Amino acid sequence: MMNKRVRDAMNVQIQKEIFSSYLYLSMAAYFDSVGLDGMASWMRVQSQEELFHAMKFFDHLKDREGRVELLALEKPATEWASPLEAFKAAYEHEKMISASINNIMTIAHEEKDYAAFPMLSWFVEEQIEEEASVSKIVGELERLGSSGHGMMMIDRELGVRTFTYPAATTAE
Ligand code: MG
Repeated sequence: MMNKRVRDAMNVQIQKEIFSSYLYLSMAAYFDSVGLDGMASWMRVQSQEELFHAMKFFDHLKDREGRVELLALEKPATEWASPLEAFKAAYEHEKMISASINNIMTIAHEEKDYAAFPMLSWFVEEQIEEEASVSKIVGELERLGSSGHGMMMIDRELGVRTFTYPAATTAE
């Protein structure tokens, strides 16, 4: 049986990852509503990736006979003042997620739950990438200012992204 503190923290993390998916889907709907199809598509891919993250925790609990308990979801925001504001919100959200992963890592260390380390390490690394990719887009949008042409270029560039299953972890 799994350590209760670790299990509880992972159940809360499943909720956070599914909420991330919900939030990014809401951002996709916002971008659709303002005609930025590429950004909408990017957010849709991001949303899928978050569901994959949630399932990674789900399967880890399942494999270790730690009962999965799905928690209630909040309603995500639906409007942002600009594409820049939406990406800034996504960046803040990812920093919160990184802190949350680090916190589970701390708990796993305290409880000597060595079996959780490989998967948690995967998430620590994944979060570096998540923060970097969103931060890069925030920077591009900031430099752009009010250039409509630049916005179109970024939108086109972001629309190229497709969903691919993230690299396998040593935990599976
Ligand atoms: Mg995630």
